Amino acid sequence: MNRLEFIKAISSATLATGLPFPISAVNGQGMSTLDDYSAMARDDDFVIKDIDTFMLKKALFVSVELNNGSKGWAEAMPNDKRSSRTLIEKTLKDYFEGTNIFDVEKTWDHCIKSEYDLGPGGLLTYSISGIDCAIYDVMGKVVQKPVYELLGGKIRDSVEIYASFTRDVYPTPQQAAEKAKQLVEQGYKTLKFRMRWGLENQDPPNDNTVAFAGALREVIGPNIKLAMDANMGHTRERAIALGKELEAFDLAWWEEPTAPYDYEAIKAIVEQVDIPIVFGEHAYTVEQIQHLLTYGGSWAVNPDLLKCGGFTGGKRIGGYIAKKGVKLVAHNSRPSLSTVCMLHWVCATKMATLPQEFALREKAPGAFDCLKGFPEFKDGRLHISDRPGLGVEVDEEQVRAYDKKYTK
Ligand SMILES: [Mg+2]
Repeated sequence: MNRLEFIKAISSATLATGLPFPISAVNGQGMSTLDDYSAMARDDDFVIKDIDTFMLKKALFVSVELNNGSKGWAEAMPNDKRSSRTLIEKTLKDYFEGTNIFDVEKTWDHCIKSEYDLGPGGLLTYSISGIDCAIYDVMGKVVQKPVYELLGGKIRDSVEIYASFTRDVYPTPQQAAEKAKQLVEQGYKTLKFRMRWGLENQDPPNDNTVAFAGALREVIGPNIKLAMDANMGHTRERAIALGKELEAFDLAWWEEPTAPYDYEAIKAIVEQVDIPIVFGEHAYTVEQIQHLLTYGGSWAVNPDLLKCGGFTGGKRIGGYIAKKGVKLVAHNSRPSLSTVCMLHWVCATKMATLPQEFALREKAPGAFDCLKGFPEFKDGRLHISDRPGLGVEVDEEQVRAYDKKYTK
């Protein structure tokens, strides 16, 4: 970049943010990123021509195509994939189409702030995530670098992932224990079992959390780490009483024992239960993570890249928790493209030193048929590739075939 280009870049960043550098452009270490590419932000080749969405059985894939024909792929959070698709197609794509991919931070801010009434937690950030991550994929392909380089550079080559499984699928302690045995045989060194009670079913009369924890610990022995997830399932008093019972099972952490917005209850549980407590999967912005840590508390936080607006939101959270010294144990309920995105994020995020979530392939029927080059799983770890972008190839023909089948 020549001096004039450099000055222009600094000027535009200052105008956009009112600060001497774009504060939004911080990575997982709190350093600025994307500045090296500001000259490319004025090249028409890298302007977004088209954003498209594709329905799979349990996923919503998103593609971003540039004027020069390059294409990036990712997925949006599909909790309500039809609504996400509608929001992307009818509203969000208007913000991003016609913008340069190297201006992604500015466009992302413009979109989130303009549509604040639709979010900023939930459908808005769930949907923007798909666009943002696909932009990073194509950006990496354009500059011939893996996404982690665009996030500030990789700190680690591989990441321990934990197997995440649930009472919905394994409804008795015996069935869960049998599955746990298989997962350990496959090489997982950390397991998490989700009770899936939910806010609408707090303090259920049939609460058998202790029986599950006991059966799982017994079958995996003392050397495999075990976490439990209450999925917001208890009031403060019940969570404290249950937490005290769970102290006997040497849990690596206990996730969301109560409602994620009840900071007073969270604070009481953190103070009174002698198990590392984790919240954060329902905190969708860096400000919500800040509120959680300030008014509630959390041993580590578990934001989800697909819930917090993709890499742009993820970088901000990574930079914030690095300053606070709080670890990241990423939530990741989608096994295919989301896992690849999550891997780039945590490999470039300083505080991501804990095992990260993998929701098992069975949770994304068909999605793996569309991908080539999924990261290698070995010894309980996923190993990141150094291929450009996300480093996976998407079979567009297969994706289009699924879309035809599942679009209703
Ligand atoms: Mg959870």
